[in-house]
Amino acid sequence: MRAYYQLRPLIPMALRRYLQQRRRNEARPRWHFPDAFMASLGEAVNHFADGVTIVHPWPDGAHWAFVLTHDVESEFGLSRSLELADVEREFGFLSCWNIVPHGYPVDQGVIRELRSRGCEIGVHGYNHDGRLFSSRKEFDRRAVEINRAMREYGAVGFRAPMVHRQLDWMQQLEIEYDASHFDIDPFQAMPGGVGAVWPFLAGRFVELPYTLPQDHTLLIVLGENDDRLWREKLEWIVQRQGMVLMLTHPDYLAGQHGLDLYRRFLEHVCELSGYWHALPRDVAEWWRQRHDSHVEVDGEGHRRVAGPAAGRCRVAVMQSDGERVLFNEPQREVSWS
Ligand SMILES: [Zn+2]
Repeated sequence: MRAYYQLRPLIPMALRRYLQQRRRNEARPRWHFPDAFMASLGEAVNHFADGVTIVHPWPDGAHWAFVLTHDVESEFGLSRSLELADVEREFGFLSCWNIVPHGYPVDQGVIRELRSRGCEIGVHGYNHDGRLFSSRKEFDRRAVEINRAMREYGAVGFRAPMVHRQLDWMQQLEIEYDASHFDIDPFQAMPGGVGAVWPFLAGRFVELPYTLPQDHTLLIVLGENDDRLWREKLEWIVQRQGMVLMLTHPDYLAGQHGLDLYRRFLEHVCELSGYWHALPRDVAEWWRQRHDSHVEVDGEGHRRVAGPAAGRCRVAVMQSDGERVLFNEPQREVSWS
């Protein structure tokens, strides 16, 4: 990977396209579903005859979460950001915009406008040259600048360029959450994925994996004409009460085709129910509160949530039906014996 990014400027565009094409042909039909992870999780849960009692993943009665994030790759992308934000506003959605602090001149007017609309600003690496993790020394040097940019933008969230990632090193970042992981994505320079479609705690911060294919994969690598893959994955996540976290770029979505596709998808989401639409910073804060809470049994044998999430959350019993892990309502109360 290190060699690829050092040589990338020298690799002719035609060859890069060929490599992408080859990867496209090699992709399995269900490449966007983390089936193996879910099967293992189901197996683990099935070891417990009565399921596993937990604090439900989502607050306020929600069944799944819907989160929108954007990485702004270039000055061009930033100049088209408000167009994309306008589309989201049609449906009452808000999003997080990750800015490269040392990559291009950052138009503070656009940042102010996004903020005034209620959007979140995050930091997207240092200068987006693909070498943030090239050595520990280089990372440490850049981490100082990234932390400075976090303070400058009042940001609490981070995503590494090209979704490269090294959780141990990233502990140095002064962040509430990172969003450089994904559940599954074979199209990245560092492919793989964590499998989970829920946040998790990664040392001192919360990790928010993206869970829908990136717009770049959909539009450019696969050359899709519609939002079919997004809808398929959305449905799959909703059935599992997971987090639908999108990563798109104004740089790729800004054309008419991209905007139409995005609008159609958001319209589709709007028709669904049971979701918690939140900014990533709110999801991270929630996840920490949830982590610090637990299920207890009161004097009458009722299970209830205690701790900072108590006011907003409910008890769930994790069970598996063989194909899916479900978060069911507790069927019966615990008896004292
Ligand atoms: Zn990027």
